[in-house]
Amino acid sequence: MQKFTLFLCSLVISFLTFGSGPDLAAQTVEPQKPLPLKWYKGNTHAHTINSDGDSTPDEVARWYRENGYNFLVLTDHNFLTKVDGLNALHGADEKFIVIQGEEVSDLFEKTPIHINGLNVEKKVEPQGGKTTAELIQRNVDAIREVKGVPHINHPNFQWAITADDLKKVQNYKLFEIYNGHGLVNNLGGGGKPGLEEIWDMILSSGKLVYGIAVDDAHDFKHFEEQKLSRPGKGWVVVRAAKLSADSILEAMERGDFYASTGVELIDYQVNSKTMTISVKQDPLSKYTVRFIGKDGNILKETFENPAVYEFRGDELYVRAKVLESNGKFAWTQPVMFSKK
Ligand SMILES: [Zn+2]
Ligand SMILES: [Zn+2]
Repeated sequence: MQKFTLFLCSLVISFLTFGSGPDLAAQTVEPQKPLPLKWYKGNTHAHTINSDGDSTPDEVARWYRENGYNFLVLTDHNFLTKVDGLNALHGADEKFIVIQGEEVSDLFEKTPIHINGLNVEKKVEPQGGKTTAELIQRNVDAIREVKGVPHINHPNFQWAITADDLKKVQNYKLFEIYNGHGLVNNLGGGGKPGLEEIWDMILSSGKLVYGIAVDDAHDFKHFEEQKLSRPGKGWVVVRAAKLSADSILEAMERGDFYASTGVELIDYQVNSKTMTISVKQDPLSKYTVRFIGKDGNILKETFENPAVYEFRGDELYVRAKVLESNGKFAWTQPVMFSKK
């Protein structure tokens, strides 16, 4: 019988709790035990008046702080908005941090290609390239060089980036499967795949990447205009040891988070045999959980909560999507099997 290796840190994490963890005093008894992990909600894509947003960095940080987020990455176009003063004003231990970032905004021929650099130490200039994939790679590498974490933004904005491009690019783990801006074609159409289909195409090639949901918020003052990009539409909830830029971004790059447009999970657990999703249910809503595998095929669909999927071992990958009856979603990160 073939053996399979499971790539997910959650495999080794069996004592996770939602919200505040177990008594930290227990750590002094068993010092080798890692810190209990907690969940932190954040948005990794937002603009201020330092690029094309309508509000000051203070107003943007304040909106997220007051709306239940734990972290925010400010990502102005080709501009590094400083965050020290914002953290002095809005930051609070284990409650809220602002992380420095940049949306490296490049062009291939005349098509915009944008890559976020999270927690970059320095500003990154757009790098250019001879092909779309090469341009993305050069920007990803430049972001890594200044200790940043890259994420690929809105691939379907002006239909700039295809699944084939993203299969070729190396050294990134995160890409947007949902972007809250009104003009970025998340769903695809007219023969073009949506972002979730693109995700399954990349995963089906054997490449493990993680899907994030973001606001790409620009408009904090014009809530009445539908086409604008308002905050509060897409976010991630990350399971990390503490609320720091390093801890949050490390957890994201190992896939220990879920993306959401409104569905909240109580817990998400993976062991060698099963994947279990517990949904925090609104009594006025109904929920369906889909377990999805190679080529986007639905492996199992259930209304049970918690929803449990038993691995066969030959799926290549398994990921879960929670569908809420008003069109809200949550996506957990894929578990990928490799044949040995
Ligand atoms: Zn952009
Ligand atoms: Zn943006």
